[in-house]
Amino acid sequence: LVRLSGVNKWFGELHVLQDIDLDIAAGEVLVVIGPSGSGKSTLCRAINRLEPIEKGEITIDGERLPEEGKELARLRADVGMVFQSFNLFAHKTILENVTLGPTKVRKKSKSDAEKRARELLDRVGVSAQAEKYPAQLSGGQQQRVAIARALAMEPKVMLFDEPTSALDPEMINEVLDVMVGLAKDGMTMVVVTHEMGFARRAANRVVFMDGGRIVESAEPETFFTNPRSDRAKDFLSKIL
Ligand code: ATP
Ligand code: MG
Repeated sequence: LVRLSGVNKWFGELHVLQDIDLDIAAGEVLVVIGPSGSGKSTLCRAINRLEPIEKGEITIDGERLPEEGKELARLRADVGMVFQSFNLFAHKTILENVTLGPTKVRKKSKSDAEKRARELLDRVGVSAQAEKYPAQLSGGQQQRVAIARALAMEPKVMLFDEPTSALDPEMINEVLDVMVGLAKDGMTMVVVTHEMGFARRAANRVVFMDGGRIVESAEPETFFTNPRSDRAKDFLSKIL
């Protein structure tokens, strides 16, 4: 469903993505881990062209991501993204946050968008908060709204960049549970996280990045019990 071939990116002299080849099948849940600065966020941002790449090709559902323009906006709408910071619109209600994209970009009617938004808010467990503003919600609730907002666009793939790392410990699981549910429902997901419990519960594959390269790619059980590279061993010894 998502294919990266020979992807390279530089920030000035810094070679942040080096010859990345990655195939993500429909329904697959890919967890990306690696040390700080290894290029995990840049990889996510490249997949929906928040960051341009200098070399290589990214296709989504067989369509090559263009550099810019209308086509890019259309393809990008197929890729939902959830960040560490929740990035909700502070001056809009929870319901408005979730209906904005579908009405503006997907051209849904207001009533259809609202109906779907309420279903999604219910699914992530925050339907009682629909008329409130983001600041009135806890971090865990805001992040679940951010997930509902992304889902409202009916994306083909969801990207999560450390979705729980800004949360207090007691709120982490309520967000991870929503993500596990999505994974079980067959959503294609790329998840940057150091939550190894999530990786074990939901991932089909773990990719370990270091220095802008994919160093290892394996099933979670194999990766955690028997990492091949010294760099992965060293990294795991620090986080487990
Ligand atoms: P973390 O675990 O800290 O989030 P990461 O694996 O997500 O790290 P990236 O954010 O992708 O790493 O960054 C990869 C490298 O690119 C880092 O060295 C970072 O300093 C650099 N970098 C990221 N964004 C930019 C930018 N806009 N301009 C210049 N350098 C950048
Ligand atoms: Mg990052």
